[in-house]
Amino acid sequence: MSAVGPKVAYVKRQAQTRNHTCHWPGCTQQVPPAMWGCRPHWYSLPLALRTRIWKTFAPGQEKTGLPSREYVAAAKAAQDWIQDQLASASKGANP
Ligand SMILES: [Zn+2]
Repeated sequence: MSAVGPKVAYVKRQAQTRNHTCHWPGCTQQVPPAMWGCRPHWYSLPLALRTRIWKTFAPGQEKTGLPSREYVAAAKAAQDWIQDQLASASKGANP
């Protein structure tokens, strides 16, 4: 399944079935296991990364715990992007 629309509908239907927090480092917000993270953090990712996560997400992977290699790579790219943001933020606005 590669079309994003049905997957969005699927994810929105999912409930908080277990302890699962937002994937943003340090965020303790509980989000349904099918969701990457809380709304503010999800939308702080660049659109290209969000699209990549949507395209590689397979409904049900959050239950089997077996995401595809492509999804893992997309999630890793998101974490790398976040680390870059945090690193540049900690250096301050004045380069
Ligand atoms: Zn969050």
